[in-house]
Amino acid sequence: MAKVVKCPVCTKRLMDMLSAKEAELQIKCPKCKKVINVSFLNNQAHGEAV
Ligand SMILES: [Zn+2]
Repeated sequence: MAKVVKCPVCTKRLMDMLSAKEAELQIKCPKCKKVINVSFLNNQAHGEAV
């Protein structure tokens, strides 16, 4: 079951996550150009603008 990770600033869809136990990554939003710090913990995704 995929979860959609959205940009917390402009809600643009950043990626789909299938599953993750624990991970942390940074994505640059293609729309608002903010760097988003995305953390996964037990299949919960949390995005935060850096
Ligand atoms: Zn954005």
